[in-house]
Amino acid sequence: MPELPEVEVVRHGLEPAVTGATVTRVEVLDPRSLRRHDGPEEDFVERVTGARLRTPERRGKFLWIPVDGRDEALVVHLGMSGQVLLRDPDAARDRLTRIVLDVDSPGHGPVRVDFVDQRIFGSMALDVLVPARDHPAQLIPSQVGHIARDPVDPLFDDRLFLRRLAAKDTGIKRALLDQTLVSGIGNIYADEALWAARIHYDQPTRSLSRPRATTLLAEVRLVLGRALVEGGTSFSSTYVNVNGASGYFSHSLNAYGQHGKPCPRCGRPIVREEFMNRGSHFCPFCQRIRLR
Ligand SMILES: [Zn+2]
Repeated sequence: MPELPEVEVVRHGLEPAVTGATVTRVEVLDPRSLRRHDGPEEDFVERVTGARLRTPERRGKFLWIPVDGRDEALVVHLGMSGQVLLRDPDAARDRLTRIVLDVDSPGHGPVRVDFVDQRIFGSMALDVLVPARDHPAQLIPSQVGHIARDPVDPLFDDRLFLRRLAAKDTGIKRALLDQTLVSGIGNIYADEALWAARIHYDQPTRSLSRPRATTLLAEVRLVLGRALVEGGTSFSSTYVNVNGASGYFSHSLNAYGQHGKPCPRCGRPIVREEFMNRGSHFCPFCQRIRLR
């Protein structure tokens, strides 16, 4: 499942091709991929055709492309398996292509933007831009309004986050996955940051000391930063491919998916426990619940 670093790879890859580009044609092959568009298929096609696109933006794992001269943006939800592929206009189509945008790019000429999605949890939608609650000069899609800033956002407020975290009555991993508290951290990066900070996933937020919470936030930034760098090196300007399942980050994981393997810090086995219909991977020796 794509998380912040994977979505940033897509955003970064789209940027040179779509910034300043005009959409010349829209083809919807599967209307299910418009489930988050507030209107019929014809409405989407009519409003996106002719739109001049601006620089793609991202918050957490939400990606959008503002439309020039209108308070609207094309929001791309990758869901579980969504991909955005940049192709030559006459290239063969992937069987799972759901939406096709032909764009005329100032730097690259005609380019085809294919939205490919195997499981159809993703979507495209045209959405209205509204002022961000904490920074009204910044416009964000209404669908992103309830999503908190991510930790690599320059406007992320560390002190506000630590205060809100301390006020929560939950386990630390649930808090990290709460997109209204902090966005962009999914199962993989939560497990990795908790391992690095030596914090048990079910540590009650109320009993997590301020210094340990501060350390955890720093580890979240480090793990996301490393994944962003690795994603950046595997990036190709002509083929943007996001697939969380085969993540390029997988070779440097310490805890996630490593159950049965030795903890890189203490050598004892990493274990996996059921958590929110998925799994939590941790070292029971390094990551113990500590009560104040
Ligand atoms: Zn360990």
